[in-house]
Amino acid sequence: MNYTLSEIARICGGTFTGENRRVTEVVTDSRSCGMPAAPLFVAMCGARHDSHDFVDGMYARGVRAFLVERPLDERDGAGYVVVGNAIDALQRLAADWRRRFGGTVVGITGSNGKTVVKEWIAQTAPDGVKLFRSPRSYNSQLGAALSLLMIEGDERFALIEAGISQPGEMARLERMISPDVVLFTSLGDAHQEHFASVEEKCAEKLLLALHAPKIIYHSAYEPLTSMLREVYAAGHELHDAAAEAGGGLADAASERNSQLVAAFWRVAGEPAPDFGRLQRVAMRLEVKEGINDSLLVDDAYNSDINSLAIALDYLHGVAAGRPTTLILSDILQSGMDDDELYARVAAMVAAAGVGRFVGIGPKLQAQAERFVCDKAFYASTDDYLRRIDRADIAGRAVLLKGNRDSRFEKLEHALSRKSHTTVLEVDLDAMTHNLNYFRSHLRPGVRLVAMVKAASYGAGDFEVAQLLQHQGVDYLAVAFADEGVLLRERGITMPVVVLNADADSFDAMAANRLEPEIYSLRSLHEFAAAVERYGEQRYPIHVKLDTGMHRLGFVEEELPALLDALARCGRTVRVASVFAHFCTSDDPAQDDFTRLQIARFDRMSSRIAEALPYPVLRHTANSAAIERFPEAQYDMCRLGLGLYGFGFEHNAALRPVSTLRTRIVQIKRLAPTETVGYGRAGVLSRPTVTATVPIGYADGLDRHLGCGAWSMRVKGRPAPIVGRVCMDSCMIDVTDIDGVAEGDEAVVFSPAAGNTPEAMAEVLGTIPYEILTSVAGRVKRIYLKE
Ligand SMILES: *Cc1c(COP(=O)(O)O)cnc(C)c1O
Repeated sequence: MNYTLSEIARICGGTFTGENRRVTEVVTDSRSCGMPAAPLFVAMCGARHDSHDFVDGMYARGVRAFLVERPLDERDGAGYVVVGNAIDALQRLAADWRRRFGGTVVGITGSNGKTVVKEWIAQTAPDGVKLFRSPRSYNSQLGAALSLLMIEGDERFALIEAGISQPGEMARLERMISPDVVLFTSLGDAHQEHFASVEEKCAEKLLLALHAPKIIYHSAYEPLTSMLREVYAAGHELHDAAAEAGGGLADAASERNSQLVAAFWRVAGEPAPDFGRLQRVAMRLEVKEGINDSLLVDDAYNSDINSLAIALDYLHGVAAGRPTTLILSDILQSGMDDDELYARVAAMVAAAGVGRFVGIGPKLQAQAERFVCDKAFYASTDDYLRRIDRADIAGRAVLLKGNRDSRFEKLEHALSRKSHTTVLEVDLDAMTHNLNYFRSHLRPGVRLVAMVKAASYGAGDFEVAQLLQHQGVDYLAVAFADEGVLLRERGITMPVVVLNADADSFDAMAANRLEPEIYSLRSLHEFAAAVERYGEQRYPIHVKLDTGMHRLGFVEEELPALLDALARCGRTVRVASVFAHFCTSDDPAQDDFTRLQIARFDRMSSRIAEALPYPVLRHTANSAAIERFPEAQYDMCRLGLGLYGFGFEHNAALRPVSTLRTRIVQIKRLAPTETVGYGRAGVLSRPTVTATVPIGYADGLDRHLGCGAWSMRVKGRPAPIVGRVCMDSCMIDVTDIDGVAEGDEAVVFSPAAGNTPEAMAEVLGTIPYEILTSVAGRVKRIYLKE
């Protein structure tokens, strides 16, 4: 984009004041590390955070143009546009910028495959065709607007993804994107929750094509096809991709996606695409542990310049203070000449504060001069693999970003640590989804504590905490001081409550600004003494009340003594919150007891709140109570299990975040006379094919799951455990599954029906909490994020 602030005010119906700056790029995330040349910082009042708080910080970083939702004190040299709603304003601006674009705008929508089809069109673009595509999954109301504003103007095509989750959203996107061509991918049951039926969702998606002259679809998808042919029979050119020659891909959905790509190029008037160019589209940025204590952010196969900016931001976030390295291959098919392209890349690398830059490929080698940081260049990936410099990797956060020909998977392989082949995969997007689900159940203004005790219910410590910090949660809670210290060491700065704070750790807590749960007079006095040793004042503490759980906390009779003691150490400590815990909020049969607990909490906590000369937060609801007892939300709620994807009863609106997977290390064909494992407990009734997998009870696979009690999934089919679970491995029956080979994956638990931690808990007579927290520390955690 390219506008002055006064033009923006006119287009968006806002009020302009100050210096009339010209801007070319939008910045909405104050944590964004790179800063474009002429940025417009957009501040919004969201449900969770108000980014107007960051305007000063952005000014300090050199930003001089602001789009804001309320008037702010004007600073020297800065210009402001005040609008009623920043997202509306950005959408109007995006619509204006789109109208000025002379190329073809292609809107892509559907439930699945949007990103894949978009990337494949880009990968198969004929040489010399300049094409813009919205970065990653920038497909929301805000994301689509930001995408349109990134169009430079001289592209032939702009591919814009449109995603919706609620009725009414597509009409807004259609007005803004105003596509010349609409491409529909599959329509499955993803994101169904807010729609009454598949038909309703289809009807909403169809709206994107309301004014589009050309529509591309695949007649394998119903009810989309029938609805499309009915609604858009006149006034639109309909192109069914089913007749196209695809890439000959093995799975049906991929093959259809390739046919859609072929149909696109036909409609564009170009020759049939070369499917030899297709690459796996890495949907997400994967973060994993690397060799030499490094952290790898794997974004191989995605090397366009917009996604580089996003990946650099992400790198900066996960690095949490570690030095960073970017390993980048030549960028193909940018549509720009090399000088312009690499000047931009070098500027991004410099702005992002990348510590070391490794360029791979002849073009980067030729442009080496442009990079100002610590740098090294290699002709090819193989060349680098022969001479990897430890200093590029050791202790650093490393972003891998390679084009499709660069074979960065070899590099990823060489740099990742794979001492153990069992991994717990944690889906951070699912976690964000769950967080938002519970937030939507909170009354306005109610704050949130995220429970990250026991290494985030087994999902891992730092990455989860970092996501929650990023998402603007108000507090984190851990069980022990050590867990809190670890979070501080890795750069978590938000308030952290320690639930089982014991006197031995009080000094470490004061040193790390960790806030204790105070549950007895003794703990209050000991903590106050530690605070005094540290010379601190009014240190925040959280007073725990016992309303019926009878675990920790003050009972009603102790309140006078507590109030007395609090009055006496009023200078040393300050009660930040008063709280209690339910013992049966998930059990409808015990609702009377829960109501009794609420009544006790109400009485006891108001007594404390009234006695103190300052305001305190009150909270008692855990995940189940957020949904079941809205009257118990008070000022804050504590979200635990729900964050990880499980409700008080099975809840399909939540997304389980964890998948435990391992790999087959050996396959054996056994006669029925043989037995399997310790105690010869695996008795066979037929010729059996077993697969040995390296996960045992020391990894958290309960021994009671042996002898057929639990089935893993191999190629999507059940593979029962044969015989007893050993310490480090066990055997599974794959007789009925075709084509199983050593190295294939076996899924221990996952969100798939019948394979969930809930199902496993049922087999073991326990609760999902125990399943999640039992996965041993030695199992490597891998984090996925879009
Ligand atoms: C663990 C815990 C929670 C969270 O409970 P969930 O049922 O997982 O939501 C809340 N409060 C306290 C004090 C806890 O220990």
